[in-house]
Amino acid sequence: AHEAEAAAPITPGALADGTAVPLLANLGSAKSTDKAVALGAEGVGLFRTEFLFLSADEAPSVDEQRQAYQSVLEAFPGQKVVVRALDAGADKPLSFLNDAPEENPALGLRGLRALMANEQILTDQLTALAQAQENTEADVWVMAPMVSTVEEAEAFTALAKEHGLATAGVMVEVPSIALMADELLTRTDFASIGTNDLTQYTMAADRLLGSVASLQDPWHPAVLRLIREVGAAGIASGKPVGVCGEAAADPLLAVVLVGLGVNTLSMSPAALADVRAELKLHTVEEARSIAAAALTAATATQAREAAQGAAQKS
Ligand code: PEP
Ligand code: MG
Repeated sequence: AHEAEAAAPITPGALADGTAVPLLANLGSAKSTDKAVALGAEGVGLFRTEFLFLSADEAPSVDEQRQAYQSVLEAFPGQKVVVRALDAGADKPLSFLNDAPEENPALGLRGLRALMANEQILTDQLTALAQAQENTEADVWVMAPMVSTVEEAEAFTALAKEHGLATAGVMVEVPSIALMADELLTRTDFASIGTNDLTQYTMAADRLLGSVASLQDPWHPAVLRLIREVGAAGIASGKPVGVCGEAAADPLLAVVLVGLGVNTLSMSPAALADVRAELKLHTVEEARSIAAAALTAATATQAREAAQGAAQKS
């Protein structure tokens, strides 16, 4: 008889006091769309578009791209879908994009830098996305990866708008742009913090290298202090700030992020339920105290412990 009972409906992400924290999905292709919807994603916070390019000998046509984008947008009528422009670089070689081998690909011509050096790829992608937007009801946002400067953010935002995409923002995954978050948010519509790369670049530790994996910890107070800058700039400007790196999938860290001023959290769909449950245990005031406790720490371990201690009291 139990099997016949309908599962309780999944409620939108919210804190104990009712403060909404939309919980969004990270998607790596159009295939995981159904799973995201079934697990209650309230939209998409990061649609990685690399899958369209990585196995190809030449850039996919505008029409191929339009179809792929449309198949994701169609699953989220009336909801936000944040599409990230191609994040390629010398570590993910594309015959049609990079021309020179690099000794330090993580610091090279990657992300938006590579797109600006190959502008046709970017303008085709923006054209395809604008066409997909025309054909669906989703609220389409577009963002650029690996942005280091406000000039880059400004150039990308202008180009996206010229192509008919009304909401354009950038990822914050390089310390330089996190530190400039106030200036950034006067020049673009939103910021989405990519904690995987932000941690890699803050700690100067390759995120793919096992021997330095212990440094790839977003609980490190150096990373939290950078996120605090971005959260504060979001609050001051009224512009949305999300997190779409792995940190958003750690339930207690998700509470810390909200306490630092983050408005939305995006994660792999499998993590949505645990994060949703943890957020419901704390008010916004408590989230701020838990974040403040983490910020007093000197190490990642201490930050985690301080947050756990503060969460138990709340
Ligand atoms: C990140 O860097 O945190 C991020 C979300 O982007 P990716 O993992 O695709 O580099
Ligand atoms: Mg990244």
